[in-house]
Amino acid sequence: MQKLLYNSTRGQEVGLEASEAIVKGLAKDGGLFVPSFIPKVDLDFNKLKDMSYQEVACYVLGLFLTDFTEDEIKHCVYSAYDDKFDDASIAPIVKKDGHYYLELFHGSTIAFKDMALSILPYLLTTAAKKQGIENDIVILTATSGDTGKAALEGFSDIEGTQIIVFYPKSGVSMIQERQMVTSTGANTHVVGITGNFDDAQTGVKELFNNKEFNKELAERNFQLSSANSINIGRLLPQIVYYVYTYAYMVKHNEINIGDPLNVVVPTGNFGNILAAFYAKSLGTPLNKLICASNDNKVLYDFFDTGTYDKRRDFILTISPSMDILISSNLERLIYEIAGENPDMVNHFMDDLASEGMYTITADMKNELASFYPGFATEEETLKAIKIEFDATGYIIDPHTAVAKAAYDSYTKDTKDDTKSVIISTASPYKFTKSTLIALDDKYESIDDFTLLKELLSISGIDIPLAVKDIDKKEILHDTVCDKEEMQEIVMNFLNR
Ligand SMILES: *Cc1c(COP(=O)(O)O)cnc(C)c1O
Repeated sequence: MQKLLYNSTRGQEVGLEASEAIVKGLAKDGGLFVPSFIPKVDLDFNKLKDMSYQEVACYVLGLFLTDFTEDEIKHCVYSAYDDKFDDASIAPIVKKDGHYYLELFHGSTIAFKDMALSILPYLLTTAAKKQGIENDIVILTATSGDTGKAALEGFSDIEGTQIIVFYPKSGVSMIQERQMVTSTGANTHVVGITGNFDDAQTGVKELFNNKEFNKELAERNFQLSSANSINIGRLLPQIVYYVYTYAYMVKHNEINIGDPLNVVVPTGNFGNILAAFYAKSLGTPLNKLICASNDNKVLYDFFDTGTYDKRRDFILTISPSMDILISSNLERLIYEIAGENPDMVNHFMDDLASEGMYTITADMKNELASFYPGFATEEETLKAIKIEFDATGYIIDPHTAVAKAAYDSYTKDTKDDTKSVIISTASPYKFTKSTLIALDDKYESIDDFTLLKELLSISGIDIPLAVKDIDKKEILHDTVCDKEEMQEIVMNFLNR
């Protein structure tokens, strides 16, 4: 097999082994690591269709992690995708009324972040060992709500690691916050930021790029890495479920091998849908990648006009994990459509930093044909929950509902009847309040914890362990800080 190396989108770091790129997280030049080519394989769906999720994961990851041994990959995959997931198939696909949902919320924090963050700690510790690293690895993470808890779960008490999570103090759901601040594990730290997700993410990126700070850490035998989707080790495991979904659809005679399949992805930081793009580049016959945004529709406007413009108000919505104006992973797509030219990436990213916007070339825009942008307002999101429930009795969370609304507009506007899989990114139990309000206003005045029981009686689906009795768990983290204080806070944690 051909060795696959990784390059920074901004050109200054090239030719890294996968393990090196995973340990670093973010490149020194501020860029993101991308595979230097997409592996050339004939995906054999006749074989893939009979493989378990774990087997598909070993196969797909093997293509990208060429410096890992087969045993190392197996160790990572089977440690991650085990009975932490409450469904033996890991990523069940359900059929409703002509469309399908890929349920990515059966992991320990009931959002799709578990798909990558249950394996990242194993990839990272394996990679560090391969690189001969003896420092403790400090995972710095900014979260819009879901990554934080998934990372805390994944890294809790993993030897040789510290995990520090920053979340927007007023920008996450009550259950999301409670999940994070009750995290156990001697190496876990959680901090609320008085700002929004972009403030948290920008603050974390600045720490990564702060040479003084990194030097100081190194003197104390620490080094930074990232659990955000800027880490390629987060992105690669997400390719797996697109390949798996296609194979599943073949196996269950929903499609024939080679038939096109649309996917509809509720999008924020552009990690999930970028994984779909990589799966398609790998040869999975995906047709349209429908990119669904909420009211923070910076991506919709980008695909529509070719201009990425973050100069707008940040809107807090009922799909908070998608409340993002700077979608980090788009940089990887920009690199791709710019013909892998880091000079152009630097140019656009400089514009974004200084002007708050950039416009891609007409040639680049032509490369975006497989993406179809959609968005849903708050009202449309609530309506989508209600429509699905009334039609099928199936309850979707507000993030998934943004995708469902975008899918409905897509089919109406294009008349495309290609089979479509809507990516379901969170359990309704994680966003109980907004989910239930969509069904009936009367839930407005009831607290989230009582509503868990209400949702149980309506859905008949057991309350997941992740949120069961969460109101009774002890709050273990209560630090709040300004963006300017992040560096100091990190040092304080590590000095303990
Ligand atoms: C993170 C998240 C998203 C957005 O995914 P990206 O990879 O950031 O685009 C959507 N829905 C939920 C529930 C999430 O947690």
